[in-house]
Amino acid sequence: MRPTGKLHLGNYVGALENWVRMQEQYDCFFFIADWHALTTDYADPSHLKENLVDVLLDWLAAGLDPAKCVMFIQSHVPVHAELHLLFSMITPVGWLERVPSYKEQKENIKEKDLNTYGFLGYPVLQSADILIYKADVVPVGEDQVAHVELTREIARRFNGFYIGGFNDKKREYVFPEPAALLTPAPRLPGTDGRKMSKSYGNAVLLTDPEPVVRQKLKTMVTDPARIRRSDPGNPDICPVGDLHKIFSSKDTMAKVYEGCRSAGIGCIECKSWAADTLVKILNPMQERRKKYEDNPRLAWDILEAGSARAREVAGATMDEVRSAMGLDYGPVKGSTK
Ligand code: SF4
Repeated sequence: MRPTGKLHLGNYVGALENWVRMQEQYDCFFFIADWHALTTDYADPSHLKENLVDVLLDWLAAGLDPAKCVMFIQSHVPVHAELHLLFSMITPVGWLERVPSYKEQKENIKEKDLNTYGFLGYPVLQSADILIYKADVVPVGEDQVAHVELTREIARRFNGFYIGGFNDKKREYVFPEPAALLTPAPRLPGTDGRKMSKSYGNAVLLTDPEPVVRQKLKTMVTDPARIRRSDPGNPDICPVGDLHKIFSSKDTMAKVYEGCRSAGIGCIECKSWAADTLVKILNPMQERRKKYEDNPRLAWDILEAGSARAREVAGATMDEVRSAMGLDYGPVKGSTK
C-alpha cells in the first residue's frame, strides 16, 4: 500500500478488511510502498514519513497483528531495488508500455510530469516486491490483475534465462509464478455518490470521530427522485442505500427498504442508522489506534522488526538470484581477501 496518509472506509473494504482475514490463513508480507509513492510524487516527498506512520497506525487499528503477519517499509529492504534493477535488464519496454494503468494514469494525471523512467518501470519494481518473497498469491483488485500478469511474465523470462539449480536432475526455477487473488471489493460510494476517494474530498476516514461521521453522512447525496419527505425512494439507486448494503445488518437493511419505498422514514433517519453502523465499526479501531498514537515508538518498533524479518527472507532469495545469474563472485584465486 502506498503511504497516502490516513485511510478511509474505501481502503478498508477494498483491501484492509481482506488482509486482516488473510493473516489467519497465509504467511503474509504487507509493506508500505514508499518508493512507489515517489514514482508519482517525486517532486515533494516532504509528507512521506507522516503519511507512512498514519498508514501503519490504520493497519494496526484495523486489526493487522505483528504476531500474525510481517509489516515493513519497502525502502528498509534495499534488495527490492537490486532485484528491480536486475529485472529491468530483462524486461522489454513494450511490456511496460502496454500495462493499462500506465497509459491511463499518464492521461488522467495532468498536474505531474509522469514521463519518467521510474514511472514507466514501476510495475517492474512491483514484480520485484512480489517475487523477492516468492509469493504464491497476491491479493489485488481488478485494476491490478494486469500487474500480477506482468510479474508472472517476468518470472517466466527470468526462469528461462537463468537456472536455479538441479534437484534429482530436474531443473529448478528460482521464482514461482504468483496468482492474483481477487479481492471482491464492493464499490463504496463517498458522500457525493462518486467512488470514495481522498482526492474527491468525499471520504469517511477510519479516524473520523463520531460527530464528524454523523456530519459527513448528513450531507450525503440520496436518491435524487426523493425530493420531499412524502416521496417514496429506492435504496438501490441511493448511495446511502449502498452504504447500508455493505455495512448494516439484515434487520436494518429490511427497515431501510421498507421505510424508503413506502416513504415511511425520512432520509435523515435513514442516514442516522447508517452512521450508527459506521460508528460501531470505527470505535474499536479508533481505540486500538489510540494505544499506538500515545506511544508511536511501539508502532515504529513493529515496522523495524518487520523490516528485519523481510530483509532475511528477501536476502535469501537474492542469494539465489545472484547465484543463478553468475553474480556470486567468490574471492579471485590468489587474492588475499
Ligand atoms: S430513505 Fe435512505 S435509502 Fe431511501 S433515499 Fe433516503 S437515504 Fe436513500
